[in-house]
Amino acid sequence: MNCPKCRTELMVQETFEEIDIDRCPACKGLLLDSGELKALISKKMGNKADTLGFSSTSDHMDKVKAFCVSCNKDMQAMLGPGEIRIERCPDCKAIFLDQGELASLQLYTS
Ligand SMILES: [Zn+2]
Ligand SMILES: [Zn+2]
Repeated sequence: MNCPKCRTELMVQETFEEIDIDRCPACKGLLLDSGELKALISKKMGNKADTLGFSSTSDHMDKVKAFCVSCNKDMQAMLGPGEIRIERCPDCKAIFLDQGELASLQLYTS
């Protein structure tokens, strides 16, 4: 699978607290389905998020449009908690988070 954002091939699948997530080794973005996002936020990763490099933000990648490779469609930007801009595929509802956005979402929902 290619990264929706930087198009790097091969997202790395990781299991995190029993949730399967796809992570891009290049831009450190995360591809999730909508259920996984809720589950991940509720996990409150805390320091663990830092360890995984989720917490440092990347304004640069935030400006790049995400593209759902499974549906061949542009993903749509939407505002999550704390006005954090996340991207969602209108068809399969997959969600793409830039590096750092997961940690920010957790901050606002705790
Ligand atoms: Zn990427
Ligand atoms: Zn899709």
